[in-house]
Amino acid sequence: MTMKDKKEILALNAFALESADLSTFEDNLAELLRRREQIFGSLSVLFYQRPLHIVSARGCSILAADGTRYLDFYNNVPSVGHCHPRVTKAVCDQIQRLNINTRYLYRILNDYAEKLLSLFPPELSNLVLTCTGSESNDLALRIVRYFTKGEGFIVSSNAYHGNTAAVTEVSPASYRQGSLPRYVRTVPPPDPLYYGSDVGKGFAEAVAAEIQDLQQAGIPFAGLLVDTIFSSDGVYVDPPGFLQAAVDVVHEAGGLWIADEVQPGFGRTGTMWGFERHGVVPDLVTLGKAMGNGFPMAGIVTRPEYLRAFSEHFGYFNTFAGNPVAAAAGLAVLEVIEEEGLVENASWLGTKLRSWIQDLSTHYPVIGGVRGAGLYLGIDIVDPKDGRPDVRRATRIINALCEEKQILIGATGSLGHILKIRPPLCLQSPEAELFAEALEDVCRALL
Ligand code: PMP
Repeated sequence: MTMKDKKEILALNAFALESADLSTFEDNLAELLRRREQIFGSLSVLFYQRPLHIVSARGCSILAADGTRYLDFYNNVPSVGHCHPRVTKAVCDQIQRLNINTRYLYRILNDYAEKLLSLFPPELSNLVLTCTGSESNDLALRIVRYFTKGEGFIVSSNAYHGNTAAVTEVSPASYRQGSLPRYVRTVPPPDPLYYGSDVGKGFAEAVAAEIQDLQQAGIPFAGLLVDTIFSSDGVYVDPPGFLQAAVDVVHEAGGLWIADEVQPGFGRTGTMWGFERHGVVPDLVTLGKAMGNGFPMAGIVTRPEYLRAFSEHFGYFNTFAGNPVAAAAGLAVLEVIEEEGLVENASWLGTKLRSWIQDLSTHYPVIGGVRGAGLYLGIDIVDPKDGRPDVRRATRIINALCEEKQILIGATGSLGHILKIRPPLCLQSPEAELFAEALEDVCRALL
């Protein structure tokens, strides 16, 4: 891959105004688009060659303004299902009663926090609440730096960890040009393509080499920050346990491990947390996205001693984080996950879906492979002639699924040739079958 092939994360499956023929769009879509582009300017981002104008959603279904229903195989924020009645009711009830900041006592916050922490290993006994995954990772970087007195971080080569100034610096996927700061080192994602058959050993050796490189440059090592399913790198989850050796290397060098659970957390991978797959307890866990099913909430779960070290230098207060409405949303999400058996659903249905796609790959060489855990899958789209990553075909599949089959998916990986599949966790078997059939039809048309 050359730098010219690399795609910045927001360019994946993005609408391109320059190449769009707005005269082929219905009047009201063209009008909405023009207004959007004018207001938001260069930073406007939309999905699809023909962006979707949507009006409502429920479960795994999204309704467009023209009456078309789309099956959502992409959105992991409304993770227990779009507009889940239990969550919307909890939010509505609470916002009519009390909404204020965390410098007062209110019971629902303690109830929520205790329930959340009960889902973690006991040593991770403290919680900091924020509003976004970016804020969580930003604060986690600061905590690790103050505790270790280090500066250097290691991330995967196409990592995305958020959008603050500090977090953008450790997010290679965000760069359109320029280079990473001197204190950031990257390692290739845990793919046998880079590391051979022993991914765990290879990944740990790569981390060790970068720690040494930092030290040789006179930059004290602070820690390793990884998304436990490497979602922006292309979804890498196997073999279970492969992170253990790298985490040992980090600890031996005096560093800490931040597990970014913004994508895999809350049941997505068929276990409550992505790190469970690795059998190793993180030093800090960052949360977000699915935590409030769309209500903006995020956080860090960690050990008290790390927060103590940070608090010698700074306090931390976040105006909106942990407000009573957020606590109500978060509590309802945890109850729904438990009562509806969504972790188990993600596990068994995800396994089924993966095996269907695996089957398809034996008939359609455009499918180079499928990886993932639970309801988070990555499907490699390749040129059937030579097996090389094929961004053009991936883009065609994504847009054909949307326009011809009314199914929404996305793209991932540094080139954008990997289909990103992550439906709400309330997905049912017939919907999964519908997706597999639609994917087959679209792949057949590409032969
Ligand atoms: N970490 C990961 C792995 C993410 O995917 C994202 C968002 N895509 C973030 C952090 C940042 O979360 P937010 O957009 O809520 O700030």
